[in-house]
Amino acid sequence: MRRSNLSLVLRRFRDEGPRTRARVADETGLNKATVSSLVAELVDRGLLREGQIERLGAVGRPGQVIELDGRRVCGIGIEVNVDYVTALIVDLGGRVVADERLPLDVPALRPDAVLDATADLVARAVSAAHRAGSTPAGVTVAVPALVDVGTGTLRFAPNFGWRDMPVARALAERLGEPPYPIRVDNDANLSALAEHVAGAGAGVRNLVYLTGEVGVGAGVISEGRLLRGSAGLSGEVGHMPLGAGTELCGCGRRGCWETTVGLGALLRMAADPKDPVRDPARDVEDRLTELRRRAEEGHERTLTALRQIGTDLGTGASVLVNLFDPELIMLGGYFAMLGDFFLADMTESLRTRIVDPNATRCEVVLSTLGFSAAARGGAHVALEGVLADPTTVPPAVPEGSERSSSLV
Ligand SMILES: [Zn+2]
Repeated sequence: MRRSNLSLVLRRFRDEGPRTRARVADETGLNKATVSSLVAELVDRGLLREGQIERLGAVGRPGQVIELDGRRVCGIGIEVNVDYVTALIVDLGGRVVADERLPLDVPALRPDAVLDATADLVARAVSAAHRAGSTPAGVTVAVPALVDVGTGTLRFAPNFGWRDMPVARALAERLGEPPYPIRVDNDANLSALAEHVAGAGAGVRNLVYLTGEVGVGAGVISEGRLLRGSAGLSGEVGHMPLGAGTELCGCGRRGCWETTVGLGALLRMAADPKDPVRDPARDVEDRLTELRRRAEEGHERTLTALRQIGTDLGTGASVLVNLFDPELIMLGGYFAMLGDFFLADMTESLRTRIVDPNATRCEVVLSTLGFSAAARGGAHVALEGVLADPTTVPPAVPEGSERSSSLV
C-alpha cells in the first residue's frame, strides 16, 4: 500500500510539476499526514527536494513547494541495430544526460564481438551516469528482433542472422553481474513508447510507429496500450508480402515489404555499390545527410528513389490504417530524416488504398526523436521501474557518511 502511494505521489511531481503537500493531498485524496510522510521518504531517497515558498494570496499560510529532484537516478537506453549501436542516458526529470552512437556492421561481426562492443558501451554509459552524480535504475536494450521480454532473450533478428540469443544474460556476465536490471525489447515497440510518453505522439491513444532502418517494424499503441500479441511477436510488418519479390529478405523469404522500403532498398536504388553512402562503416546519419544534400540539389536518381519509397510506403501503411485505424502514423529512423522528399507520394498512395479516405483521421508525421527513439524508449522503461516502486532507490547517503551505496 505504502509502496503504491509512494509511486502515486512521485508520479504526481514528475508529471505535474512542483506543488505543495496540501495540494497533493487534495489531488490524490490521501490525508495530509500521509502525504507529508510519503514526501519525507521520497526526499530521503533523493527523488524529491524542497523548492520555493509559495504564498497563496494575501491570506493563509505560505506552503513549502516540493519538486522532483530528477538528477539522482537515470535510465540507460541502448539500441543495437544493423549498422550502429547507441546509448542514451535520461534522468528521472526527462533530461538527456549523455548519448553516444558508434557505427557497427553487426551482420558482418560474430555475435560475441557485438555483445562485447555493446557491453563496453553500457559500461561507458554507467561511468558517465556516475560522473553526473546519477545512479542507473536499469538498462534496456532495443533490438530489431522478435524478443522474449520476460527472459531478455532475442528470438530472431532476421537482419543480424541471430536466433535464440540470451542478450540480457550475456551482457550481465560481461558487466560482472551489475546491480541494475538489464531488459531487452523490440526497437519498434520502444520507439512507439518513447513517442507516446514524450514525443510528437504524446497523449495520442492510437498510433503506429514505423522504424525506418534496414528492417522495418511497427510499434502499435492501441487505446493507449502497446500491442504485443499473444507471444510478444506482433508488429513484424516488414515481412508483410508486399515487396517486389526479387530481393532476398533477411528472414530468408522474398517479397517482404522491407526489401522495397527499408534503408537497404533506398541505398540500392539511390547509389552504386561503391558509393560511400552504402558503406556501413560510416555513421548512418552522415550517410543520410549526404543523400539529403543530393536530394536538395535535385539529383535525379536520389529523388526518384525517394519517391518510389514513398509510394511503396503508402501501400503498406494503408494495410496498417485499415487494421488499426490510428490517429497518427509516425515515421522514424531514415524515414524521419528524408521524409519531406516522399511524404506527398506516400500520402497519395495511402489515400488510394484506405477503405474510406474521407472518414479516416489518420495523419502521417515524421518522428522528431530520430535515431534515438528506441534508446529513449529504453531509458523510459528503465525509469518506469523507479516510478512504479520508489523503494528500489536506497536512501541517499548523507554528506561525509562512511556508508557506501550498494549501487555505486
Ligand atoms: Zn522478411
